[in-house]
Parts: sequence; C-alpha cells; structure tokens
Amino acid sequence: MAAPRRNEPVDPVALAAELIRSPSVTPRDEGALPHLARVLEGLGFRSELKEFREAGTEPVLNLYARIGSSGRNFCFAGHTDVVPPGDLGDWKIAPFAGTVEGGTLHGRGAADMKGAIACFAAAASRFLAERGPGFEGSISLLITGDEEGVSINGTRKLLDWLAARGEKLDACIVGEPTNAQVLGDMVKIGRRGSMNGYLTVEGVQGHTAYPHLADNAAHRLVAMLHALTAAPLDQGTAHFQPSTLQISTIDIGNPATNVIPGRARAAFNIRFNDRWSSASLKDWLKAKLDAVGGRYTLDFHVSGESFLTPPGPFSALVAEAIERVTGRKPELSTTGGTSDARFIHPFCPIAEFGLVGLTMHKVDERVPVADMKALTEIYRTLLELYFPAG
Ligand SMILES: [Zn+2]
Repeated sequence: MAAPRRNEPVDPVALAAELIRSPSVTPRDEGALPHLARVLEGLGFRSELKEFREAGTEPVLNLYARIGSSGRNFCFAGHTDVVPPGDLGDWKIAPFAGTVEGGTLHGRGAADMKGAIACFAAAASRFLAERGPGFEGSISLLITGDEEGVSINGTRKLLDWLAARGEKLDACIVGEPTNAQVLGDMVKIGRRGSMNGYLTVEGVQGHTAYPHLADNAAHRLVAMLHALTAAPLDQGTAHFQPSTLQISTIDIGNPATNVIPGRARAAFNIRFNDRWSSASLKDWLKAKLDAVGGRYTLDFHVSGESFLTPPGPFSALVAEAIERVTGRKPELSTTGGTSDARFIHPFCPIAEFGLVGLTMHKVDERVPVADMKALTEIYRTLLELYFPAG
C-alpha cells in the first residue's frame, strides 16, 4: 500500500480498516506496524521500528514515531496487537476483513484499539496541515505489539529505550476504549492494581474415620479463605472503588470420600486501589493467613500497581476537547482493568481516552464511523489546546 503524500489528510476509517487486515494477534504483527510507520512517514514523522525479545519469550515489534525536534513532546500511546477472534464461525463479518458496512467499521481491533490509532494519525495529519511548517512542538506515537499479552516486550522496554537516549515525553494520551456507553462519557485518570495469589495449604493425609491421626488441609484452606474474604479490604478512596479480592479457584482433586486430603490449593485475584501497594497487600495476606495457622505457601504474580494522575491541567484539556466536540462532560474514572498507562504515568501527565468499549474483546467487535470522525476531531482539538497557536 502506498503511503499518502505529505500533508494529505489521513482518512481514519480507511487506515483503521487497513490495520485490521493485519491479523496481529499478540505477539504477531503481520505488517500492522510497518504500515502505520509508512503512513506516518508520509506525514513527515521519523519512525523507528524496534523489536524486543526477552529470553524465553516471543519477539515483539514496537514503533516510536515523532515529528518535530523542539518544544513540548505530546505523545499518543497505544497498541496494534489484538486478542484472538475465537471461533471464526461466530462472527457475522470476518474479523480481519476490515469491512465498512452500514456506517460501521467491523473487525478485531476496531474498538481496542486500531480505530483510535487511526483517529490519532488522522488528527495529527489535519493539525499539521493547519499549522504548516511553522509548528514548533513535537508529536509522537508510541505503539506496541505487546499489550494484550504478557506486556514484557512492549511499552516498558520502549520507554527504557527512549529514556536511555534522552527522549522526553511531556504529556500522553492513551487511546484505550475508555467510554462505557457513548463517546465522551469517560476518561480514565488511573487504574487499579492487579495481583494474583496462589495458596497451597499442607496438612496430613489420613482416613476420614480417624481424623485425630490426620490434619485436614481442606478445613484449613476454608478457614484461610474465610479470613481473606470476611471483610472488605477497604471502603474505596477519593478516586477509586473499594479494593476487591475474588477467589478464582479451589482445587483439592480428591476422588476418595474416605480420605482426608493432605494438600489443598486455591487462587485469588485482588484488584486494589491507591490505599495499597502489592507489598502492603502481601504483608496483609501473610498476617491473615498466619493468624489461622498451619503450614502453607503463598506465591504471587503482580500484573500492575495501582496508579493515579490526579485531575489537573492535562485531564482538564482532555475533558475540554471532549466537551467541545460531543457536548458531554466526561467522568474522570479509575474503573476497569489495567493498561499500559501503568508504565507511562511515572514519566508525564497521562490520561486515557479512545472509542466506546462495548464490543472490545467480543465477537463482532465494531465501532460507528461517526464515532471515529468525532474522536479524530477530539484528538485534533486536544492538539490545538495543547499547542496554542501564536
Ligand atoms: Zn487495549
């Protein structure tokens, strides 16, 4: 596909459809990022494709593209990787066809989040055309192919690589599909942390008729899980819902009704707000389990700490751009799962805003073309507000 000529406005729907035609299920790229890089180069961006591969993982392609070398650097961050489509027969329109039909763009990644990437490229092309060669700021795109997977070879490594060469970000918008029902209803200014716990309780196996000769691991596991779930972790904070602990599985695997199990396992997931860190939660968990007593092991996997960019000048600009285009005042929220914003927020003010998330990760993922046009206009307005003319 030929890259557009410099300053020719990018059509967000056409570009999103082209990106959808690359079946870039994590960690594969299938041509998505090189195509985006060519389109951005056509607008005058310098783009760099960077592959990262940690031992024991699949290599992942990433992209950093920037126009301008002075002034403040406004960054758009996102991901071209998508979750698998599942059973293709369940889709009314093929997930990787990039079909526009009835005023709707269909396909895996339309909402999460190739659509928003295309809208930002289109917004930047319009903004740059309006400002002409006199524009003195910088606009960049930081796009990974490793967001939906383990997130090892993606945004975090890209940020380290940029920091090592002195590249600075001054503000960042992440194009995740943050809106709950309609475009303009929600901006995310933080996210809860997520941690999994894997609990194994050791007892002594025995005959159910002779319990005094055994130590029932199942009974102690139940007592421990009760200790963890009996009371809420907290009541929520100024910008966050209450933290929650959900048991995801209990496994004993004992087929015999006359055997006391000697080992019992459970796993749980904690979504935690800014009252906690994974370290303080680990201390809390150990104290609760030790109070029940007995031998156990507890392993952890921390997917991300909670973070918050308190409402401030940047989130106000984002809200202003949204209101000018949609007439809606967005809620500033911290709900939902985690995102790559967790890696970027230590570097600069950050907010997340993209399309409507109703169909993300679902069969028949799709977005209205009207929403894509409005999101393009919101991003263009945001650039106008961030880089006031004159
Ligand atoms: Zn996403």
